[in-house]
Amino acid sequence: MSILKVARLGHPVIRKPSASVPKETIASPEVQRFIDDMIETMSEYDGVGLAAPQVHISKQVAVIEVRQNRRYPGEGPIPLTVLINPKILSASKKQLEDWEGCLSVNDFRGRVPRAESLEVEAYNRKGEKVKFHAHGFFARIIQHECDHLAGKVFLDRMPNLSTLAHLNEFARYWQE
Ligand code: ZN
Repeated sequence: MSILKVARLGHPVIRKPSASVPKETIASPEVQRFIDDMIETMSEYDGVGLAAPQVHISKQVAVIEVRQNRRYPGEGPIPLTVLINPKILSASKKQLEDWEGCLSVNDFRGRVPRAESLEVEAYNRKGEKVKFHAHGFFARIIQHECDHLAGKVFLDRMPNLSTLAHLNEFARYWQE
């Protein structure tokens, strides 16, 4: 396995909508290895989620996992989840606002409203179609990662930028 280089905002790959993965290629050693590398990269950088465009691959793959995370204390745990070609089938009208950060917009936090719960369909890493409900922090991460697959970042979802804060200032003035 290897740790992949993270693309930051400004690199065109972050703004490019990514291509779906053909179902029959999911079991291939290349795709399986790429998924393993994404998981290792997410873990290395203390991410709670990672989308393939963030490691320069414009394909619809995202990984999510929350253990005890020092970037997001008090959240989780969320078991390791691999989403391939994910689709948000429905989203609750009710939204919750909370802080988000991003490995591609590093050193920033901002408050983002997101649907509280979702129904999601995707392929898992075995190529099986899965359909599930997600709510709270898990739903937030899924929306964040699906945005990446569409070339969007959390800054696009902020109603305004008044809460945008560098991490040090976030810790000093905003964190409860
Ligand atoms: Zn992100």
